[in-house]
Amino acid sequence: MSTLLQELIERYELAEKAGNEGVWDWDLRTDTVYLSARFLELIGLPPSVATAHRPNEWLGRVHPEDIDWLNACLKGQAGGMPLPFHMEHRVRSEDSGWRWLLCRGVAVDNEDGKPVRLVGSIADITDRKLAEQCLRQSEERYALAAAASNDGLYDWDLRTDTIYYSLRWKSLLGFAEDEISDSPREWLDRVHPDDLIWLQATLDEQLQAGGKPFQIEYRMADACVQTRWMVCRGIAVLDEESKPLRLVGSQADITDRKTTEQQLRESEERYALAARAANDGLWDWRVDTKEIFYSPRWREMLGIAPNITLNRRSDWFSRVMPEDLPDFKAALNLLYHSDRTHLEHEFRMRHGDGSVRWYLIRGAAVRDANNIIARLAGSMTDITLRKRAELQLRFDALHDALTGLPNRNLLLDRIGQGLDRLRRTGGHHFGVLLIDLDRFKTVNDSMGTTVGDLVLTTTAARLLRVRRMGDTLARISADEFAVLIEEVGEPAAALALAQRMADAVCRPFRMADGELVMTASLGIALSVTGYESADEMLRDASLAMYRAKSAGGARSEVFDTRLRQHALKQMRLDSELRTALERQELCLFYQPIIALGTGRVHGFEALTRWRHPERGLVPPIEFIPLAEENGLIVPLGRWALREATQQLAVWQWAYPRPVPLSMAVNVSPRQFRDDDLIALVAKVLDDHKIPAASLKLEITEGALMQDPEGSEQAMRALHDLGIKLAIDDFGTGYSSLSYLHRFPADTLKIDKSFVSELTRRRENAAIVHVVSTLAAILGMDTVAEGIETQEEAEFLLDINCSFGQGYLFARPMPAPEVEALMSREHDKYGDADDDGVDIGMEWWWTKDAGHTIPEATGPEATGPEATSTPKTVATNAPVTKKRPRTSH
Ligand code: C2E
Ligand code: CA
Ligand code: CA
Repeated sequence: MSTLLQELIERYELAEKAGNEGVWDWDLRTDTVYLSARFLELIGLPPSVATAHRPNEWLGRVHPEDIDWLNACLKGQAGGMPLPFHMEHRVRSEDSGWRWLLCRGVAVDNEDGKPVRLVGSIADITDRKLAEQCLRQSEERYALAAAASNDGLYDWDLRTDTIYYSLRWKSLLGFAEDEISDSPREWLDRVHPDDLIWLQATLDEQLQAGGKPFQIEYRMADACVQTRWMVCRGIAVLDEESKPLRLVGSQADITDRKTTEQQLRESEERYALAARAANDGLWDWRVDTKEIFYSPRWREMLGIAPNITLNRRSDWFSRVMPEDLPDFKAALNLLYHSDRTHLEHEFRMRHGDGSVRWYLIRGAAVRDANNIIARLAGSMTDITLRKRAELQLRFDALHDALTGLPNRNLLLDRIGQGLDRLRRTGGHHFGVLLIDLDRFKTVNDSMGTTVGDLVLTTTAARLLRVRRMGDTLARISADEFAVLIEEVGEPAAALALAQRMADAVCRPFRMADGELVMTASLGIALSVTGYESADEMLRDASLAMYRAKSAGGARSEVFDTRLRQHALKQMRLDSELRTALERQELCLFYQPIIALGTGRVHGFEALTRWRHPERGLVPPIEFIPLAEENGLIVPLGRWALREATQQLAVWQWAYPRPVPLSMAVNVSPRQFRDDDLIALVAKVLDDHKIPAASLKLEITEGALMQDPEGSEQAMRALHDLGIKLAIDDFGTGYSSLSYLHRFPADTLKIDKSFVSELTRRRENAAIVHVVSTLAAILGMDTVAEGIETQEEAEFLLDINCSFGQGYLFARPMPAPEVEALMSREHDKYGDADDDGVDIGMEWWWTKDAGHTIPEATGPEATGPEATSTPKTVATNAPVTKKRPRTSH
């Protein structure tokens, strides 16, 4: 084996061991090739134990552009080329396209000097190749870029401290060839002082450390003393001892790039400062140049045509609404002169289309090193819609939705302002007029809310028309309007205005099926009375209104202090009444109801009394209306009903009659509307085991007529329980005959106003006569209330009124007194039916029989009721007068 071959084999082995190169051995005689494992791996063939491969297994994978070269190399070797070859070529690789391989080879001759084998190695040079390629590309790119940008070159000889400036270097700065010497000063003196230190530092570092390229940007003054931005690249050239000899490099003008960069940065800043929403307009105010940049969107928001130049402050300020300008300027000033950095302000501007719109600006101040504001920049948003919504909300909060009039809050606010003004400046006096529609609820309930709303809106419109200019008309609750009357001190003037308002309300409303006439109760409070608060004044106006209402409505009242005292008393009473029930201060008095024909007790009416710890016995007129108003009437009425039935059960047991004693209990309108009344009645009947027919509920005619349909229903339900119903205070409530016919009532109670002076006033006698006849026709009986004299009793008996109740017979009295009375009566008549006994009512005809007929009583007078010790009550009085009734 030749030394060469020996050498080669050793090399193969080494190479294989190193694991980097593959080896190959081509037998030219058999045209087979041995490929080592690494070789197979490199050309992407599976490892194989086969020792002989066909050359094409290798050559077939070589890149088409390289294969001819490779073949040529191999053929040249085989043809006797004396030198080994090496060639770079690409082979297809499985994963990454082409792989670069370096192939080295040499021919092995036989003894005859004829090549019989070709042997060689193969190495992967892909990474190196790629790196070279990248390098070349970047070199190319650099060359291209340098050519395109046309850099000026410089060469600084450090030993002589002279610089060669290329023609281009000079022309970049606008100088001709001979205008620049070779001094470094030509360069350095033109660099902007702020940048020079950085340039110096960079150069110094080059000269010390050296060898590494540098790049720096700075400003230079050109031939026209204009500032230009330059980029300078360079490198130090070192001698053998690494001492810098020269600095060489290039300089290029980057002013354009810098300007765009700057602009970009500025616009980015602008954007950052301002970009709240894509819809925002941007503005950027350069304080030094007094110029404002307005973005296209800014213009668009104000409807400014694109061809109009906008860059001045006046372009903005002139569009701001004059009333908003001072505030706007103040906001800007504040930002400018304080150390605030942010601004947020809302104002109005006139849009190009003539409309006035709301805008919100947000801005930020950019300060320089001396904390002086250099720029103000920010965004602008059109907030017209939001503002409108806000205004709408504010309007809604202060106005009534149905009529659009100011509401209670706004009215109170205006009254408050008026009172403030009065206090501060002693300005003019004013008044508050409250207008409450009478019986509006009835209209609403019976004719529907559509009609109700129509009545309200029409009334509002009418009141608006008659109100004086400048007076505030408000709707303060469902059917209550109020007017703030300016400049009125005299009640008479206010009343005159009230009359105009009342007249406006009274005009008939034309309805599809006829006319509707409304009336109103009006109350007036005047600021001359002296008020601390708006609430107080409005409250007094309502007090006056309530008085007008309780006097029958359709009238006006001016508030006076007596009214307030009354109201104060009511308030006190209110709180006391709330505890009265719990403290058992309420009790029932019973007033006997007499069968006029026999003079015997037929039953009782239960009348509530309040044993007030300080005031003594309080009559119901002083607290029932109040309880009705504050709702206490419901529990109070329930208590009265239970108490009275329980008492009746006791007395029915103690004083049995063929027709059991009866008990009448008063029911208030509110109670009557209470759904639980029927259940309650059923329960008390059941609890106390009294015959249903002996319980009678009294409801006033007026209450029934507030809601005739509803009343009819409630009455039917009660009547179905078997109890009796009485229409109380009959004659005062103007009920129509048709209703009277429909109500399932058993009794008409003739109001005491007709009974009193019955004998002296002829029309009273006529009315009572008609009523009792009417009752007889309708199948009802009559009870005359308030019989105080014998004449009245006689008259009533004459016109066939069956029952009577009054001081003549007995006052309302506490239960023990009733019992005393009943015992005496029982002693006299036993258990006999009143009709079956031949001694009648004579006992009450005589005055001297021992019972008292009281003097006329005021509300304060409590008469004999006040005491709990029973007064002598007439019973068993000797019969001295002929019986008015014919007996058989
Ligand atoms: P009313 O139902 O009309 O009761 C009759 C009133 O006439 C009673 O007044 C009674 O004391 C009074 N009276 C009876 N005889 C005479 C008389 O000869 N002359 C005069 N001048 N008056 C007479 P009172 O007890 O003050 O009750 C007043 C009103 O209070 C009652 O009128 C009734 O509407 C109401 N009331 C009383 N208790 C209750 C109750 O428990 N519930 C309800 N809802 N109302 C009640
Ligand atoms: Ca009654
Ligand atoms: Ca009555």
